Amino acid sequence: MRLIFNSIRFLLRLVWRVLWGLVWSFALSFLIIVGIFYFTTSTESGSAGLSQAVQTAVVRVGQFLDHQGIATGLHTNVETQTDQLTDEHTTTGARWDQAEAAIYIDTDNETFRSAYQDAIGSWNQTGAFTFHIVTDKDKADIIATEMNDGSVSAAGEAESQTNLLTNRFTNVTVRLNGYYLLNNRYGYSYERIVNTAEHELGHAIGLDHNEEDSVMQSAGSFYSIQPADIQAVKDLYQT
Ligand SMILES: [Zn+2]
Repeated sequence: MRLIFNSIRFLLRLVWRVLWGLVWSFALSFLIIVGIFYFTTSTESGSAGLSQAVQTAVVRVGQFLDHQGIATGLHTNVETQTDQLTDEHTTTGARWDQAEAAIYIDTDNETFRSAYQDAIGSWNQTGAFTFHIVTDKDKADIIATEMNDGSVSAAGEAESQTNLLTNRFTNVTVRLNGYYLLNNRYGYSYERIVNTAEHELGHAIGLDHNEEDSVMQSAGSFYSIQPADIQAVKDLYQT
């Protein structure tokens, strides 16, 4: 009888230790991951940088668990994977004739509408390129609209048509993907939605991806318009 009692007590203690061990190693790994993001990807220092690092860590750990879940067959919802790509833009080398374009905002979603307005305001403020908001869709060079597509892993896209003789844009459509940007699950703050809009408008201007400190980074949407981006627009339109 006593032997059984002792064995049970031993077992309980063992289970308790293992559980604590797991909790501790998880907490410790998370702290290490946050630390790594703080020193590698955060654009701010201090508490702002720390919260950015925590945000990145939560998203990445979430993605990891998603992938693990898929791998072990716990759940098979493939749509939960996203690699937080901003888009899958490929180089066009094209631009507008002048450093300006007429843009029509074609969305009823209030968040997207104001994100586009903020992004347009930010680009206009750089002085390097000017967007004119028009209320007549037919007069627009650029249409700023939305999509809701979980089959692509991109938070947005910019689709351009180019006159191949002159290498000038004839029209561009930019889309923000509500499937990711408006779903709490993916953790996009309003600031990152504006960053995404600035990124897509950057493509509509003629910018390509830039993996340095740039709004044109292909993933993450942690940067707003940076000095390097303004310089890139100036270089593109200097002739
Ligand atoms: Zn892009």
